[in-house]
Amino acid sequence: MEIIQTVEELKNYRKSITNTIGFVPTMGALHEGHISLIKNARKECDNLIVSVFVNPTQFLAGEDLDKYPKKTEADIKICELAGVDAIFMPNISDMYHNHEEINILAPNSLGYILEGHKRPGHFDGVLRIVLKLFNLIQPSHAYFGKKDAQQLTLIKQMVNDLFLPIRIIEGETIREKSGLALSSRNAYLSEEEKKEALAISFSLKRAAKLFSSGINDSNKIENEMRELTSNLDVEYIEIVDREFNKIKTLELNNTIIVVAAKVGTTRLIDNIWL
Ligand code: AMP
Repeated sequence: MEIIQTVEELKNYRKSITNTIGFVPTMGALHEGHISLIKNARKECDNLIVSVFVNPTQFLAGEDLDKYPKKTEADIKICELAGVDAIFMPNISDMYHNHEEINILAPNSLGYILEGHKRPGHFDGVLRIVLKLFNLIQPSHAYFGKKDAQQLTLIKQMVNDLFLPIRIIEGETIREKSGLALSSRNAYLSEEEKKEALAISFSLKRAAKLFSSGINDSNKIENEMRELTSNLDVEYIEIVDREFNKIKTLELNNTIIVVAAKVGTTRLIDNIWL
């Protein structure tokens, strides 16, 4: 496996490969969620590149940029074992020039609601780095998790609006046996907090159960979820369609229930696609 640390090396590597190129962008501290995206890409593409880059522009002031978990050696091992061809681990100064004026702006409609409302500017930073990485790597396929539903939708929209010749492939959310969605940020949780956090996935599972038993009223389902998560500092529970419009009635194959909550000082997001 090639370990690539600079943009120049990446450009040279890119020139040396042909046929389909699968790309999995990550912020590292890789877990089974990332690995499942990598495995999907390995099956579908001739070449497979994973990036590990903690992107500063998607963090707001006061967020966890400085303490975001770093596990470089383990990430390299995991990628090697998963059959990745190249891992791209640039520095901030490689990815951002000194006085960049170009900003990729997430649309107001989707970029500044829910996650984007709680973290204004977050999605501008996400789209900016993803577009930079797409331009460098020019993948044929790029893999994103449904765990970050709003991000996935914004990336699909960017690819569509800018006519980028890239297929976006979504991966299912991977969970611990307990139901807790895997996240690099789970490393911040104490054992006690991990147990408390289970209210999130439990409430989503309960919502799905209510829906399959014939209840499709958003208010009813949201109220029950709020009760089940009353031990947490819930930032939002919202029932939306695939375009992220709020809906009053749940509809099969066109509903996502999204949750963001703080467990102690750790902010977690999760969702379920119905
Ligand atoms: P991150 O390193 O958190 O930026 O995530 C990199 C990619 O992995 C994104 O496309 C995420 O949606 C995806 N991802 C994160 N957690 C999970 C999970 N539990 N299951 C599946 N995909 C995930």
